[in-house]
Amino acid sequence: MDDRTYTADAEPGETVTVAGWVHEIRDLGGIAFLILRDSTGKIQIKFEKDEMDDDLVETGLGVHRESVVAVTGDVEEEPRAPTGVEITPDSLDVVAEADPELPLDPSGKVDADLSTRLDNRTLDLRKDETKAIFEIRAEVLRSVREAFRNLDATEINTPKIVATGTEGGTELFPITYFGQEAFMNQSPQLFKQLMVGSGLERVFEIGPIFRAEEHNTPRHLNEATSIDFESAFYDHTEAMDACETIVKAAYEGVAENCQDALEALDLQDEFEAPEGDFPRLTYEEAIERINATGELDEQLVWGDDLPTEGEHALGQDVGEHYFITDWPSEIKPFYIKDHDDDEQLSTGFDMMHPTMELVSGGQREHRYDHLVEGFEQQGLDPEQFDYYTKMFKYGMPPHAGWGLGGERLVMTMLGLGNIREAVLFPRDRQRLSP
Ligand code: ATP
Ligand code: MG
Repeated sequence: MDDRTYTADAEPGETVTVAGWVHEIRDLGGIAFLILRDSTGKIQIKFEKDEMDDDLVETGLGVHRESVVAVTGDVEEEPRAPTGVEITPDSLDVVAEADPELPLDPSGKVDADLSTRLDNRTLDLRKDETKAIFEIRAEVLRSVREAFRNLDATEINTPKIVATGTEGGTELFPITYFGQEAFMNQSPQLFKQLMVGSGLERVFEIGPIFRAEEHNTPRHLNEATSIDFESAFYDHTEAMDACETIVKAAYEGVAENCQDALEALDLQDEFEAPEGDFPRLTYEEAIERINATGELDEQLVWGDDLPTEGEHALGQDVGEHYFITDWPSEIKPFYIKDHDDDEQLSTGFDMMHPTMELVSGGQREHRYDHLVEGFEQQGLDPEQFDYYTKMFKYGMPPHAGWGLGGERLVMTMLGLGNIREAVLFPRDRQRLSP
């Protein structure tokens, strides 16, 4: 429609055509209002029954809620209207009639459970508060991309169909690739590492990762969006600095550019970009602090992975984003480098929101012999990863990087109770469609 005006741009004194969805019809007797909604907001259309064409009144007030209509008329100031203006219609076209039985009420007057909302995402996303989550998600990705560019990182895209996985065999989704077994990639880990030895040196990727995790939790998806970073000539501390920069940039972008969306979520007062450096605790300090909270039935000992309740107890104790560094080598993946002066200690780190893990990273093993040994220790066949390991023979610089869960970032930023709220069409144990 070339001559369409957004409702937010309709100025008194103009004759406009607005088009959108019938949000509500309020019939007060002699006078009635149709509230029309588009992506920019809502506008009131006034019907004075005695003074207007009967057909126009009948069509306008007879149309079902959520139908798409186009209305042409004069815009006038009206202080009593929700946006201070209203339109007196000359004509109204019903562009697409909606069924009167809606599976979900976009006006939000009737609550719907998450499952109904996910089954009817189109209608769900007509609600301001749902739409706001995805406007914020888009801003997070935009500001993160910009911040990566400021770090001189180049955006890359790597294959999602692969011959082998890296993060543990059980979490792989197998597929058939021209009669041959293949998998959906769990992480761009190996590909991004290969790029630090290329002429690009510093790269980032924002793309899907696939994890065949069995558990159905509020913070796991089977298809998630990973924000990955890798840089040549970085050690783990420099990678942590970059991680902090990127997460802060996401918050700052949202604080600066998403005021309306934050208001729709009623977060305008409490939303704050993190300030200051994220505390960096060693794994040893972390387990001591968790043990000291007394929240766990059993005390943690060196070598234990942190249980979810432990992460929560520590998160409450720290109260802001923080890093856990210097993990035992045995519980970090083989491609992470150990400290030179202590082989039991890895340079791997996690970055945590008080409520959950957001990032895992570390300095990588770049020495060919050590790397091949690591594959063997992990029970993986180095031959299968020949495409990867062999590049380490031709000049692979020391490097470090990390992966940040995009949905977890949005979820924790907005305090969402379930990660599925931050995905348009989530994939989980029960959900393969839509
Ligand atoms: P967790 O222990 O919380 O399941 P992980 O350690 O298995 O996560 P990593 O392999 O370290 O995950 O992936 C890096 C980041 O990617 C995680 O910190 C998280 O933010 C995100 N991520 C990983 N798996 C998932 C998933 N199944 N759903 C959503 N985000 C995920
Ligand atoms: Mg991790």
